[in-house]
Amino acid sequence: MVLLVPPLGHSIPLYLDKKLLDVDYFYDGTGHKLFGLKMKTEDLLKVNSAKIGDFTAKEEHHTIERVLSGITPSGSTLHLGNYAGAVKPQFDLLEKGVESYYFVADLHALTTIQNREKLERCIISNVFDYIALGLDPQKGIYFRQSDVAEHSMLAIVLANYIPFGLTNRMHAFKDKLAKGVSKESINMGLFNYPILMAADILLYKPSGVPVGEDQRQHVEFARETARFFNIAHGETFPIPEPLIQEGNASKVVGTDGERKMSKSLGNIINIFDDEEVIRRQIVGSYTDPNRKHATDPGNVEGNPIFIYHDIVNDDKDEVENLKRRYREGKVGDVEVKEKLFEAHKRKFSEARRKRRDLENDIELAKEILEKGAEKARKVAKETMREVYRVVGITNKLSR
Ligand code: ATP
Ligand code: MG
Repeated sequence: MVLLVPPLGHSIPLYLDKKLLDVDYFYDGTGHKLFGLKMKTEDLLKVNSAKIGDFTAKEEHHTIERVLSGITPSGSTLHLGNYAGAVKPQFDLLEKGVESYYFVADLHALTTIQNREKLERCIISNVFDYIALGLDPQKGIYFRQSDVAEHSMLAIVLANYIPFGLTNRMHAFKDKLAKGVSKESINMGLFNYPILMAADILLYKPSGVPVGEDQRQHVEFARETARFFNIAHGETFPIPEPLIQEGNASKVVGTDGERKMSKSLGNIINIFDDEEVIRRQIVGSYTDPNRKHATDPGNVEGNPIFIYHDIVNDDKDEVENLKRRYREGKVGDVEVKEKLFEAHKRKFSEARRKRRDLENDIELAKEILEKGAEKARKVAKETMREVYRVVGITNKLSR
């Protein structure tokens, strides 16, 4: 039996929150610490004239660590640069229990792909890459950017808080100019790319954005945008930190030994391609350009093949042994590359097998994207409502 005394006598109604009924028992006492009672929650239902309902606010977790990262579905499967600079660090965060959002940036891909079949193929391929490498879609939220319309909506609003001069300094656009494309004919999608990316990020109010060094400038741009917006409207967006690896992993050099490894530059070592393709990519990679013979002492630092060894070869003794012999001129490039190929197979054989098994299950990929979008939309809608309100847009989405 439960004796419940309403706070100030019988005339005051007793409100019981439904949440109390979520558990089997609860503890109560006199408030004077004289004794405690263990009570069955179902007995609460027997209390006369108690009103049962949803009276207390849900507990808010203000300190949740949240990260967000995007990948452009621009062609090939993931490469070692993506893996070391972005995917692996992202998975490490998820492993630590950080709330993680990943999106496949199909709207960004429109700057280069304008073909439905190709775009869809690239998107699905990207889902398989992530799942095969170990993403658990129950834990990490993986979705398609265009499935959450708020990305585009926020970009339109944010554009009003971003100076032309800042956008004009962004490298994606400047790189294109450097390739000889005239300013007059530049695609506005490319010019606006950082604005959409600022929206991608700020929409989820993440505390960090795990990316490669090449994206630092864009994250900085998002931070600036948040600052401008906050100055105009008060603290709306937390300022996100770029989470960038230290050392070589932050900007893995391509097999040309010069530029960043990039899908679009074709200087990559794939993770999921046919073994023969991967072997060719490894064999064709630059090493130490000053070393003519296997008996010449070679340079290990900054040497692409050793950077790749550090990423894929978990047999650290073997790596140290190869490095030492390379410095002493006691091992040839052929052996170092052959060992890298073997290490690549060891590291990714499980993921590659998983990806082959998944390959035909396009429905599964679509389902993952849809479920992810449902979850992402909840956060996105909330932010958009807040943004519309503070900027003064009154419509059904701001209510
Ligand atoms: P594209 O050539 O189409 O730009 P990409 O190879 O640069 O493709 P993205 O999809 O742009 O790949 O990048 C996905 C993530 O991988 C980003 O966080 C990016 O910073 C990171 N990344 C890409 N290349 C490298 C690299 N060589 N080293 C470290 N991180 C990288
Ligand atoms: Mg890139």
